[in-house]
Amino acid sequence: MGDKLTIKQTQKWANKLATAQRAKNKKRVKAIHAKIKNTRLDLIHKFTTKLVKDNSLIVVGEVKSRSFTNSMTKLAKSTYDAGWFELKRQLEYKCKHAGCQFEIVNESYTTQTCSCCLKISDSSPRGRAGLRIRGWRCAECGTWHDRDMNAAKNILAVGLDRLAVGIPSVSRGEEVKD
Ligand SMILES: [Zn+2]
Repeated sequence: MGDKLTIKQTQKWANKLATAQRAKNKKRVKAIHAKIKNTRLDLIHKFTTKLVKDNSLIVVGEVKSRSFTNSMTKLAKSTYDAGWFELKRQLEYKCKHAGCQFEIVNESYTTQTCSCCLKISDSSPRGRAGLRIRGWRCAECGTWHDRDMNAAKNILAVGLDRLAVGIPSVSRGEEVKD
């Protein structure tokens, strides 16, 4: 938890891409596109490997892309979806390999809900306007939240709840002992 996937490295390529596009250098544009794709993939690999190595449980929120559709351009959304799909795919097989628990949960309301008091207050980010809010203060309990960290805490809580419900620990434990 607390890891955020940064794509800062791709920014330098984005600048080079703009230059090549202005110069109408098609070959260079194509090469840079490939480079950006590889850089992104490499970053996702490093991110997922570290995540699986450092954690015994990984819970991810299934993104309901419907709410994103309106506010993102088509290209941005497809790029976002591709990145998300790849991230999930890698986590799934790397967790399986490393014996790490991997859970996908519905992330509805995980952004709006305060991870401290579990209330959805008037100040929480929601809807289209809410997408631009990076940080917010809960009007109910006064806690300041980083948008993504708050959502991550809620997603983890949902995952832990599911595990607690999903493990019939007593009966299974007894069976093993016998
Ligand atoms: Zn609160």
